[in-house]
Amino acid sequence: METNTVIVYGDVFVKGHKPWYPHPENPGRLRRILNSILRYGLKNKVDWDKPVNCSKEELYKVHVKGYVDYIERLAAKAPAEVDPDTYVVEDTMETALYAFGTAINYAMKSIETGKRYILLIRPPGHHVGREGKAMGATTQGFCIFNNIAGAAKTLLDHGVSSIAILDIDAHHGNGTQEIFYKDDHVLHIDIHQDPLSLYPYTGRPEDIGAGKGEGYTINFILPPMCGDDCFNEIVPYVMDLLKSFDPEIVLVSIGFDGYKDDGLTELRYTSNTFYKLGKLLNNLNKPLASVLEGGYTVGLDRGFAAFVLGLLNERDLVRDTPTKTIGLVKEKAEKYLSETISNVNKYWKIK
Ligand SMILES: [Zn+2]
Repeated sequence: METNTVIVYGDVFVKGHKPWYPHPENPGRLRRILNSILRYGLKNKVDWDKPVNCSKEELYKVHVKGYVDYIERLAAKAPAEVDPDTYVVEDTMETALYAFGTAINYAMKSIETGKRYILLIRPPGHHVGREGKAMGATTQGFCIFNNIAGAAKTLLDHGVSSIAILDIDAHHGNGTQEIFYKDDHVLHIDIHQDPLSLYPYTGRPEDIGAGKGEGYTINFILPPMCGDDCFNEIVPYVMDLLKSFDPEIVLVSIGFDGYKDDGLTELRYTSNTFYKLGKLLNNLNKPLASVLEGGYTVGLDRGFAAFVLGLLNERDLVRDTPTKTIGLVKEKAEKYLSETISNVNKYWKIK
């Protein structure tokens, strides 16, 4: 049976780029996702395809040569660290070129075929800017090359003129924001935990892009302890934005680290949020490439399956109890939402 939803996975992402010390960004993340695919009976509901690598030169679409050379030099003397969060081992370059190549290749394929691709790639990418650390961040937060930015740049080079990047990882996609901040062909919508309380401490509602890109960067922020209800309130605005921009393709930086108790953040999403996101993207009915960013434990076990079930328009088999947000946290979430809306309304009619 051929479906229009394809999961791209390969052993290269499990065998390569392994930390030599306990670190949350490790190959076990993908094993969790694969187990969850079996547990929720998703294996035969999607098609499968293989990762594709790319040449080092492809990285220059997004990164300066000096940064790429630097990662190569570190890999040559591995094990090594880019910073206290981000490790490099002997085969990091190879694994990262597969991640970047897969993002590029399947974003293009999605435009050609109209299929939706879910890319199970690592190392992640959204914290890396042109020269490495982005927007003054102290680290690269486990990321080596910006896979989703590579996908978007490649599409632009091939004449695609409107691309939406939706980043729902709990951390701000500071690398992606930096790369596309002045670009009016890429609408970057980022939903993340309040930067006052979480790495990389950027991505404020008042960041709206610059120059030609003014109005094309949009940050929705959520205070710590926000649950599914906070995400739900943002969804209609995201839908309105995507409908008014009407992109040729939607790229999703999908992270599952906002899932309750996933470990690294203080958001409390459950399967309901990820299922809803999957549904929303299914209803949009656009070419789609979803690129794995964060998510370390239970978010991968449950959030991933809920997302795919939503995208396939199947019943939510994960079915967590929705999380509610109360008191001052809810008030703050509403204040933040109205800040984003008032900034965005100058450019887009979203209410
Ligand atoms: Zn994250």
